[in-house]
Amino acid sequence: MTINPSTLVDLSHKLDSNVQIYPGDPLFSCTPHTTVAKDGYSVHTLTLGSHTGTHIDAPSHFFPDGQTIDQIPLSSLITPLVVVDLTSRELQDRQTITWSDIEGASEHMSPDVALVLRTGWSAFWGTPRYFSHPFLSRDAAAKIFDRGVRVLGVDTLSPDETSYDGVGGEQGFGVHEVILGGGGIIAENLNLGGLMNQNMIALVPLNLEGCDGSPVRAFAWKD
Ligand SMILES: [Zn+2]
Repeated sequence: MTINPSTLVDLSHKLDSNVQIYPGDPLFSCTPHTTVAKDGYSVHTLTLGSHTGTHIDAPSHFFPDGQTIDQIPLSSLITPLVVVDLTSRELQDRQTITWSDIEGASEHMSPDVALVLRTGWSAFWGTPRYFSHPFLSRDAAAKIFDRGVRVLGVDTLSPDETSYDGVGGEQGFGVHEVILGGGGIIAENLNLGGLMNQNMIALVPLNLEGCDGSPVRAFAWKD
């Protein structure tokens, strides 16, 4: 496999002090521990949750006996990419994405691909609207899973509705339960703003022993 650099696109949001955090999760910080001026070399202290920024969820995020991030084979995270582009639908805040919205891509759903839902919500990163993202129905997640998909990615904070300020969250964590419960992986906060016709994706996490998720530097390229 060779990667043509001219087709590479970064699918990661920048981790900075403005990174949008799932309600209740640890805040992110990256602060100087030593500096070149004072110590002769620069080192930073990172403080973050395992689900900060563009990241993946391991099955153990919801299921104690599920695979942890260090147990997921890299081969399942460097994989052909299938994008379901919903941007022309002009999805509304907190709109449910149903099976009928994505059924047209069903022939491309298989165990050999990462399926990524493109809602257009990357454009709202950094704004309050980012939390009011569209979300997948549990039923649609089950149908995706039935077709063999084991890696599901979204350009939103979660594939489930995000309960924020007491609003929303009726189906709970239905999509997480279906995908992670079956041993699959979920990628969240993908930045799909620059995605064109790339057909491969890499979602490589840190090798964190026993952990339930990890930030990733997600990227895609055209094979
Ligand atoms: Zn997560």
